[in-house]
Amino acid sequence: MFDTVCVGAGLIGGVQAALLRRSRHLPRPKVLLTDGARRPTFKSTLTKNIRQIAVNPGSRQLLQDVGAWDKLGNSPWAVHKITVWDAMGHGGLEFESKHEENPIFHMTEVPAISAAGVDAADDAGVELMFESKLQNIIVPNRFNQTIQDTDYVHFEIKEEKYETRLLLGCDGANSSVRKAAGLSSLSKNYDQRGFVCTVRAENVGDNRTAFQRFLPSGDVIALLPCEEDQLSIVWSCASSKAKMLEKLEEADLIAKINEVLVIDRTPSLIKQIHGSLSFIPKSIGLKTEMTVDPPRITEILSPTGSFPLGSALATNMVAPRTAILGDAAHRVHPFAGQGANMGWRDVELLTDSLERAHLSGIDYTSHLSLSKYEKVALIEHAAFMSGLEGLKQLYKTNSTPFVLARNVGTMFVNNNSALKDIFISRAS
Ligand SMILES: Cc1cc2nc3c(=O)[nH]c(=O)nc-3n(C[C@H](O)[C@H](O)[C@H](O)COP(=O)(O)OP(=O)(O)OC[C@H]3O[C@@H](n4cnc5c(N)ncnc54)[C@H](O)[C@@H]3O)c2cc1C
Repeated sequence: MFDTVCVGAGLIGGVQAALLRRSRHLPRPKVLLTDGARRPTFKSTLTKNIRQIAVNPGSRQLLQDVGAWDKLGNSPWAVHKITVWDAMGHGGLEFESKHEENPIFHMTEVPAISAAGVDAADDAGVELMFESKLQNIIVPNRFNQTIQDTDYVHFEIKEEKYETRLLLGCDGANSSVRKAAGLSSLSKNYDQRGFVCTVRAENVGDNRTAFQRFLPSGDVIALLPCEEDQLSIVWSCASSKAKMLEKLEEADLIAKINEVLVIDRTPSLIKQIHGSLSFIPKSIGLKTEMTVDPPRITEILSPTGSFPLGSALATNMVAPRTAILGDAAHRVHPFAGQGANMGWRDVELLTDSLERAHLSGIDYTSHLSLSKYEKVALIEHAAFMSGLEGLKQLYKTNSTPFVLARNVGTMFVNNNSALKDIFISRAS
């Protein structure tokens, strides 16, 4: 019998398992971390892995608290500035960290963080089972305080039967735990894929600036620094285009990426308006256009690949003795670099709920304890995701009045440092 079973040792599961064991407020629970895949291992090489993600300062702190961050050594790459600009106009945004020691985010390799999370869980005394897929999960119909055998969560691994007081689904977008618990999810398929690769580039300076460009038809390309002269490319585009990019020869792919970084698709009406009316904002001291000198890609260093993109939010995140976290509960478009960061936020919110329940003398596996987590997490994620969706729609449109409106909007935001501070703090 386990106190808690974390299903899935991706980016979220290992960290959740480690935090439960390290909690000073819970009675040292017996925790199992299990995954259908092999135990993640990682060797650092000169060229960074094809899959890298941006880790915000809040998540970095959590990873530090559970002992995972230090295992990454010097490999995380600090990013101090973000430049966002539009291929259809003069608008753009620049965010910059105020202090050298407080970067906006760190780029890290996905296999490295998964491995560090599992190693931290191992150090904390979590039991580990790999190549062990959870099957035949039976979630009880209700939480019963005066526990009967049938009130635990039952499951099988390799045809052996187990039970647990609490089951945590960190098992990704196709979560078996979510399905077994009957938790529904509202989802949207963008028919887009995220094309990814790691490249070498010149014109990067100290390579501490991330670039993101919104292109016509809803494409977004991000260049994320990850080494002195290396960038991780994430190009979100129609699925057919991503497949085409994957097939290109190196020279053609380099040319294609460099082209979209400089291409100007500003409608002629906007050029005219900008030419004749920009003296108005200038007269009150506003900067009316951004000149961006993006990096130039010179070499493709990694294999290329692409991942399906979509957005989803579970309508409920808990069931009797069961909760879901990370991509099992929500998925977002990668242009904001927040998917895993939202999952690590779940880890904090859930652990906080369990600890508060236990400190108040309530069974921390009870419905009362779990529903507090659900309430806070759903409110936070729903608000954030609707903001992201709005932004995505705003940049998807090519219609001239909308393009003009967003150019004016971004110009005002870019001139307002207080507003930009709010954006940065929300992303942290
Ligand atoms: C192109 C792209 C770029 C991204 N960039 C960023 C970024 O910059 N910043 C960011 O925060 N996020 C980013 N994300 C999102 C991020 O990758 C995901 O949010 C994150 O990987 C989710 O982690 P997870 O642990 O919830 O799920 P997963 O990583 O999917 O892990 C789930 C694990 O569960 C295991 N599993 C599944 N079913 C079972 C079962 N029945 N039994 C046992 N094990 C099981 C799987 O083997 C897997 O190991 C990006 C995503 C994409 C596609």
